[in-house]
Amino acid sequence: MRKIVLASNNKHKVKEFKEMLGNVEILTLESIGFTEDIEETGKTFEENALIKARTIKEYLNDKNLDYAVVADDSGLCCEALNGAPGIYSARYAGDHDNEKNRAKLREDLQGKDRTAYFICTIAFIDEEGKEQIFVGKTYGTIIDEELGNKDFCFDCMFHSDDLDKTFGESTEEEKNSVSHRSRAIEKLKEVL
Ligand code: IMP
Repeated sequence: MRKIVLASNNKHKVKEFKEMLGNVEILTLESIGFTEDIEETGKTFEENALIKARTIKEYLNDKNLDYAVVADDSGLCCEALNGAPGIYSARYAGDHDNEKNRAKLREDLQGKDRTAYFICTIAFIDEEGKEQIFVGKTYGTIIDEELGNKDFCFDCMFHSDDLDKTFGESTEEEKNSVSHRSRAIEKLKEVL
């Protein structure tokens, strides 16, 4: 079975990639012994995904391991805020502080258009080093209320056009059927 390293320590992402990619073996960073933090210094989702994927590919090359690598970068973009919070979604007001990040978004959008989308950009580097990018998006509007599960940052404020309810109110299965990440993974799957 083809082995692909996922450049993320996020258990939720590992689970989602494993479930969706079926016929490949997903290796975690832990399993290849990579313990460092990768600094996301890019100015776009694509740059950040590539930084993560290239860092792991170089690490594997040094160890003479020729596995393929996949990395993703995702976030929420609001039309009225010129794409913000964008690549800064996780640290919009406070580093991974969901409540602060939601409060800032609510404040910034007062009196403004609420159109928004989640985007997921996947960087894939195959065994020979060839790089490919896959993008998935899902559209909705940002509401002031927080409806449903509040665990995953903006989910409870994002009213999905496809599901006609917030991601927070949706089951994992419903969200996965329309999510930015699953749409990007579907595109990756076509080339695997
Ligand atoms: P990353 O791809 O793990 O770096 O995600 C960046 C940030 O984007 C997260 O911390 C969230 O703030 C936001 N984000 C990305 N995808 C989602 C989602 O599906 N629901 C809610 N927030 C998300």
